[in-house]
Amino acid sequence: MSFGAYLQSIGHSAKTIVAGMALTFRYLVRPKEIVTIQYGSKTNAPKERYIPDRHRGIHILETEKCIHCHICERACPVDCIEMDGTREAPFDGAWKGDGCWISSFTLDLNKCIFCNLCCEPCPKECIHMGMEFDAAAYTRAHGVKNLLTDAPQSEADRAREAEARTLIEAAEAESKRRKAAAKAAAAPAAPATPAAPGAAVPKPPAPPAAPAAPGMPKPPGAGMPPPPAPPKPAAGPAMPPPPSMPKPPTMPKPPSN
Ligand code: SF4
Ligand code: SF4
Repeated sequence: MSFGAYLQSIGHSAKTIVAGMALTFRYLVRPKEIVTIQYGSKTNAPKERYIPDRHRGIHILETEKCIHCHICERACPVDCIEMDGTREAPFDGAWKGDGCWISSFTLDLNKCIFCNLCCEPCPKECIHMGMEFDAAAYTRAHGVKNLLTDAPQSEADRAREAEARTLIEAAEAESKRRKAAAKAAAAPAAPATPAAPGAAVPKPPAPPAAPAAPGMPKPPGAGMPPPPAPPKPAAGPAMPPPPSMPKPPTMPKPPSN
């Protein structure tokens, strides 16, 4: 570096320091123009936030529109959404969705990459990326957000979810039992199974015997045992065989020449 360039660099540094201090002095005398606030300050936070409309902040769930389809849960590439509930029957302490009852719906902000892939396939468009950006927490457990309460997941929430699982299983079992009973009651009588080709055709049932004419007297002897058979005649002396017929005399052979 030449000596002239060295002096020029010193002059540029002094100029930027003067410009920065002039801005600081300006905000000192005109504090309403300040656009930055100290992190965590709630009192000095401006009412209007300079956040673009398409900002991907912490999620918001419209619980009453959710149908508990699990599509957002399956779409998440890092598996940070978990939910539990049922579409079968209500149970105590459930959040009412659209045709479903939900006991938990959490999102782990420690893992979320704010990619928006959970919001896009939602068939009811009821999960959104909100404007809130402050996901800071003192522990990783506080980084799990309960989207049903819009607050960090607490120990009470976990205990309630475990209790709800038992209620959900009981409600689903009862619902299935009722459906099976209603189906059995509504089902018509099962038609007879057609006989297989070649199988013996069952005989039709015999018609019932005609009842006897009332008041007819029985003929005499009816119901009596049959009369005894007449005795056979005794065998006579054996007959002699007929005499055999005499053989005809043999004819003499003619002399040979
Ligand atoms: S924004 Fe992406 S990472 Fe976060 S919950 Fe949705 S799908 Fe998962
Ligand atoms: S995709 Fe939408 S409707 Fe389905 S469970 Fe998620 S938030 Fe609910």
